[in-house]
Amino acid sequence: MEDKEFPHFEVAIVGAGFSGLGMAIRLKKSGQSDFVILERASDTGGTWRDNSYPGCACDIQSHLYSFSFALNPNWSRLFPPQPEIQAYLRETAARYGVLPHIHWNCPLLGAAWDEDEKNWQITTPGGLITAHVLVLATGPLSEPSLPGIPGLASFKGKLFHSAQWDHACDLTGKRVGVIGTGASGIQFVPEIQPQAARLTIFQRTPPWIVPRQDRPIPAWQRALYKKLPLAQRLVRLKIYWQREAIGAGLVYYNPARSKLIAQLGLNHLKRQIADPALRAKLTPNYAIGCKRILLSDDFYPALTRPNVEVVADRVAAITPEGVRLADDREIPLDVLICATGFHATDAPLFTKIKGREGRYLSEAWGKGMRAYLGATVSGFPNLFLMIGPNTGLGHSSMVLMIESQIKYIFEALRAMKKEQIKAIDVRPEILEHYNEWLQERLKGTVWNSGCKSWYLDKRGQNTTLWPGFTFTFRRLTRHFKADAYNSTL
Ligand code: NAP
Repeated sequence: MEDKEFPHFEVAIVGAGFSGLGMAIRLKKSGQSDFVILERASDTGGTWRDNSYPGCACDIQSHLYSFSFALNPNWSRLFPPQPEIQAYLRETAARYGVLPHIHWNCPLLGAAWDEDEKNWQITTPGGLITAHVLVLATGPLSEPSLPGIPGLASFKGKLFHSAQWDHACDLTGKRVGVIGTGASGIQFVPEIQPQAARLTIFQRTPPWIVPRQDRPIPAWQRALYKKLPLAQRLVRLKIYWQREAIGAGLVYYNPARSKLIAQLGLNHLKRQIADPALRAKLTPNYAIGCKRILLSDDFYPALTRPNVEVVADRVAAITPEGVRLADDREIPLDVLICATGFHATDAPLFTKIKGREGRYLSEAWGKGMRAYLGATVSGFPNLFLMIGPNTGLGHSSMVLMIESQIKYIFEALRAMKKEQIKAIDVRPEILEHYNEWLQERLKGTVWNSGCKSWYLDKRGQNTTLWPGFTFTFRRLTRHFKADAYNSTL
């Protein structure tokens, strides 16, 4: 069948979260309207829509966790709560007129490169569409990962993942179990502790936690930011450089310096946990920063409440009634909540994107995810990834990286139009060389210092984090690097 029988767009963006909306806004601002956003759900927000668990908030300050072109003077707190981020994204999308471009409840079922037509054939529940350029803005934290513990499916009580919170499930008076003490787990535990009759926290690795010191932003400051946006820009700039300084400590890992910083966490633990046995259980045994450093003032105090137990023994199995530990102890539960993270390096989506010669992204990434500047993959012409491999940050706002990628992709589209290029495909040797450079740089970072984290894939390779400052990435992505690509006119 001919292409013209299907709806055709110049650009198809998958995902209406921070990156997809940001890309769409950039296109709209330049006067383009020949694009579509495919969104699997019925609202914008991406991970900030899905993660609606009690207490969900961002651990990057509000002023930095927003688009540079759409600062929000109305943030109510230093650290933005999830409902405010979601509302911000929805309002910003509406303000820039991108909502009409969204196809709601429209997950991408598959996409295949058509070499003859030089476009992508995209399968959706509503039928096939074609697009010259495909932008995957699906994010690394969009597919919840349940733990591979034997017996999980046999549990007879209520079971859900933190990113799929069951708001209809009343925890009052229930025996609740929580698996996982990462960024998500430590945020909702203090919220649900007062409701639960018994709360058991199953901890595999104690996280590093430092003081959060969140506070409301006073009304006079908000009024000031409205009247004088420059004031908010200056605050943002200050936060930006403070965070880049933290980044230096993570990228240029030095065990002696790391021990000094660790003292911050150890002091926090000592101040908040008086019981030596509990403190010992909660003391991390790896370099601070190797996993994400968590911010909380209320997690440790929640663990000291009489209805809470922290179990650091290995979970052997989930039974119909609850959890069985390695020492055969049984813990009966009514509700089990898995705060066990996401498929960041093995997302099912990778098996749905078919490039040149029928090769799937999952096959191209058989030895690990890799993309030139986190955006383009050899053999997948006119495909751009947002927050692709090695663009994640351990120290600052992802919105900074997203905006760099938006700029790069926009420049690429402009160059393609200007030169009348039908297809671009990153040269394999360029991608190889770039990846070698990345992996070499990562060797000296704290993330590669020996702990196991979601930053590493199953081979132990760090395919998620950017090993440097955000301004370095911005510099590298400022201009489209035409020489790095094979172009088809
Ligand atoms: P996560 O950081 O990957 O934490 C998962 C937790 O589950 C860890 O404690 C992990 O233990 C545990 N776990 C996983 N599989 C297990 C198993 N089979 N048995 C026992 N325990 C298991 O996931 P997350 O907390 O959802 O956070 C993911 C990322 O989302 C964060 O790193 C951050 O980038 C983002 N996030 C940010 C915020 C924020 O801004 N405040 C909030 C939430 C999430 P191990 O440590 O031993 O692996």
